[in-house]
Amino acid sequence: MANINENYLKLKAGYLFPEISKRVKVYSEKNPSAKIIRLGIGDVTLPIVPSVVDAMVAASKEMGTAGGFHGYGPEQGYSFLLKSIADNDYGTLGIKIDESEIFVSDGSKCDCGNIQEIFSTDAKIAVADPVYPVYVDTNVMAGRTGEIGADGRYSNLIYMPATKENGFQPEIPKEKADIVYLCYPNNPTGTVTTKEALKAWVEYAKKNNSIILYDSAYEAFISEPGVPRSIYEVEGAKEVAIEFRSFSKTAGFTGLRCAYIVIPKELKGRTKSGEEVSLNALWSRRHTTKFNGVSYVTQKGAEACYSPQGKKEIQESIAYYMSNAAKIREGLKKAGYEVFGGVNAPYIWLKTSNNLSSWDFFDRLLDKAQVVGTPGSGFGPAGEGYFRLSAFGKKEDVEEAISRISSL
Ligand SMILES: *Cc1c(COP(=O)(O)O)cnc(C)c1O
Repeated sequence: MANINENYLKLKAGYLFPEISKRVKVYSEKNPSAKIIRLGIGDVTLPIVPSVVDAMVAASKEMGTAGGFHGYGPEQGYSFLLKSIADNDYGTLGIKIDESEIFVSDGSKCDCGNIQEIFSTDAKIAVADPVYPVYVDTNVMAGRTGEIGADGRYSNLIYMPATKENGFQPEIPKEKADIVYLCYPNNPTGTVTTKEALKAWVEYAKKNNSIILYDSAYEAFISEPGVPRSIYEVEGAKEVAIEFRSFSKTAGFTGLRCAYIVIPKELKGRTKSGEEVSLNALWSRRHTTKFNGVSYVTQKGAEACYSPQGKKEIQESIAYYMSNAAKIREGLKKAGYEVFGGVNAPYIWLKTSNNLSSWDFFDRLLDKAQVVGTPGSGFGPAGEGYFRLSAFGKKEDVEEAISRISSL
């Protein structure tokens, strides 16, 4: 028998979503006629828009011709997509990103999880609390943390609580973190940050030689002017930050799989002896060694998201979800709940009523309203006493759910 990577044994068993399923199953067995509404999902529900479908059909047909067949493509992504990304996602913001700084992948989950490989195993990590679990678990697997404590926190990991008291802006740590994960618009809290706050993070990173990993998966849901869409809107951020984006939530690609990561040429890491090394070059080495590219058909679909018609269709889907978000937000407010998020993100984060624990609130909502959400404590200890509802459901379900919750 071979020895295993024992760091995996430190992982708390994937508890959150299995536990939700279990409780929902028990309830529906006892109440077979209950119509349960699920607002816990972090997955899109609307179909792929016509422009993208058409582009993918055309690309599929092309693949069936002698002249249009594509085998292995460039690992980093086809130039047509890289150019669309650089022009549309950054050029429009006045940010110059070169094609060679973009790496197309099969998902931000993989990118956020894989990126830690190019950093030293003794790098000190800082994460917000509550947090997207991928950032934490992949560092646990790599051995950068100790064991998990009774308080639900891994040792040797810097937790930055984001609560209503600090307006969901995790405080900059007093100590030096080598790697800082930031996610805006945020999953799970649905909140956003300001350019001033990002400036402070960039300054911190410069002072401490830290790298910021900026997850911008929900950028397309920003509705208010002035909310930063990219960390590169801050001057100097290219020297300290990697950005992650995905077509998953933006264009409903959760089942198609396409995302990208931006690693500016200015971004450097260091060897133990103090030599500077390009992170773009390191990631390129990793990506080309371990990944063989997103399918041509999918990349053609992703490219179509940037056509005028594609943009229009995607905006309509986003508007549908954000109209759900507004209904949840306003409905809950009217019902007396304290709610956050839901304006620039498809998630609503609410304070549980009567100071119930997240799980007690889950049970109450299931029992009394047959509505399923996600307990905030599942995203980290600081999420205790909060609850996440998602706007990715069907309009009719959202309306019914809010009406049920309101009459509790
Ligand atoms: C959904 C999501 C992603 C995107 O994941 P994909 O692998 O691209 O589908 C990334 N980060 C966060 C925080 C998310 O919620």
